[in-house]
Amino acid sequence: MDKANRLLLAAGTLIFCFSAALTYLVLDIQSMAEQEKNTALANSEVAAPPTFIWQERYEVCKLYELDCKPQKIDGEQAAEEVLASLELAEIADKYALPEWSVTADKEQIVLTKNLAGLCPKHKKIYHFGKNESGEYLAVLYGPYQVGSGGGTYLLTDIAWQQISTEEQEKILQGDYEFYLQEDMITALDSFSELNAKYE
Ligand SMILES: [Zn+2]
Repeated sequence: MDKANRLLLAAGTLIFCFSAALTYLVLDIQSMAEQEKNTALANSEVAAPPTFIWQERYEVCKLYELDCKPQKIDGEQAAEEVLASLELAEIADKYALPEWSVTADKEQIVLTKNLAGLCPKHKKIYHFGKNESGEYLAVLYGPYQVGSGGGTYLLTDIAWQQISTEEQEKILQGDYEFYLQEDMITALDSFSELNAKYE
């Protein structure tokens, strides 16, 4: 082999090596791009859109932990599409207290509409108590434990001082709690008669 041929061979080998290296580099870049695509896919799977639960809850029932559950209400489809792209804190800003409370549980975001007072079921319960000034017997909404928190159904003209100590204690212990309005009226009548006797 003469010098010129040897040079040619050397150059040829170099070109071969270079192109092989280039092919390898291109393949490598392709596989990196493939990997990135897969990672992006995996990430989008993790960040699945959350499920929204819409419900309403009566504040007095919640405050006194009464045995009623929040009621599901219809969600707002259009709002959910917007909310799905927001962070939890941003959702809580949009649906803020006192009208709403927002809580999250795994992939579920719970939007609770806070309603004033007692739920219909607990509003049908009555109990005796004192009025705000403490001077008169009052019929209050809700079970005994809510006190005057559920509001006043009826303010009577029966003076607290005219009720016997024994009955006063019973009232304050929650013995006069009524699940039927008729029962409450009957009890109230007997208190009125008692009151009339004292006068
Ligand atoms: Zn309730």
